[in-house]
Amino acid sequence: MKYIKEFKNSELAKKILDEMVDKVKEDIRIMEVCGTHTMAIFKNGIRNLLPENIDLISGPGCPVCVTCGGYIDAAIDLSRSKDVIIATFGDMMKVPGTYSSLKIEKALGRDIRVVISPLKALEIAYENPRKEVVFLGVGFETTAPIIALSIYKAEKENIENFSVLQAMKTIPNAIRKLVLDKEIKIDGFLCPGHVSSVIGARPFEFLAKEFKFPGVIAGFEYCDVISAIYFLVKMINEKEFRVMNIYSRIVKYEGNTKAIAIINEVFDLADSMWRGLGVIENTGFRIKERYKKYDAQSKFKIEIPSSDINSDCLCGEILRGLKRPTECKLFSKVCSPTNPVGPCMITQEGICMAYYKYNMR
Ligand code: SF4
Repeated sequence: MKYIKEFKNSELAKKILDEMVDKVKEDIRIMEVCGTHTMAIFKNGIRNLLPENIDLISGPGCPVCVTCGGYIDAAIDLSRSKDVIIATFGDMMKVPGTYSSLKIEKALGRDIRVVISPLKALEIAYENPRKEVVFLGVGFETTAPIIALSIYKAEKENIENFSVLQAMKTIPNAIRKLVLDKEIKIDGFLCPGHVSSVIGARPFEFLAKEFKFPGVIAGFEYCDVISAIYFLVKMINEKEFRVMNIYSRIVKYEGNTKAIAIINEVFDLADSMWRGLGVIENTGFRIKERYKKYDAQSKFKIEIPSSDINSDCLCGEILRGLKRPTECKLFSKVCSPTNPVGPCMITQEGICMAYYKYNMR
């Protein structure tokens, strides 16, 4: 509680906001690159508290949202194979592929199970030795350690009917791609708190060193977020660019060394396909040769198709900060949480979901 109460202090938040008003001299666009920040901003009404010329835009910080349609199609195809059990985090169930979704396939009788951890999927594999259990590995650096651990344990315990269909992604080079994208105007980054708790503050230093961009790593209470915006505005005004870590109660400069060690034990860095951003160099994980038998893509000889979802869905542009959900002609008319057309309307971290839930225009 000690560490929460201190960051929920409305008096302090008001003070910071008052000071910020004097500092904002020109239009400023700040991107948050974490779905939990997006929800914290909406839940606390932070957009409405800021001076009008500060624009907060949401980036590609929701792992389900950036997973391409071809991956969903491959998972659906696999669920139709004989003696295969698909284990997945719940958010993936409703994401539409080109012709179906895991939720529909489950209703049609495929063995698809929602789990809260890949270790549960490993347990299912242990209990079902005649079946192949495939875990859908979707997530960022925050999920990568537990998925790596499940593969490591499978090897140690000689469980051979378990594998991972890999789509995990890493954030820093996706931010680099956004900085280099001339179509997007961003003045500073609210860097992801959860991801930084694993990889540390160091991997974001390139922002200031290479590109003279300010970045602030922050937590998720409203004083955390408002303070981060305050420091970004200050650095932008003073043209003094650094990557600040104001979430030091959780984030260490070197990150979580144990989590990093298990990631490095099981995965190599690889290129990865992002919805809306295309293929980005060194933003994904490849299962190391030593653990190859746990790689579902190679085990089942799967080609991930380059198919994507409904062409009217603007998730791709929204994830690059080029459009807002309300600019999508399907928003709230056709696409809603009960009938999602794209992934940004499905997960609690999706930006379309946030706009819908908090009635933003
Ligand atoms: Fe896609 Fe629906 Fe968002 Fe439109 S409102 S961009 S269809 S998820």
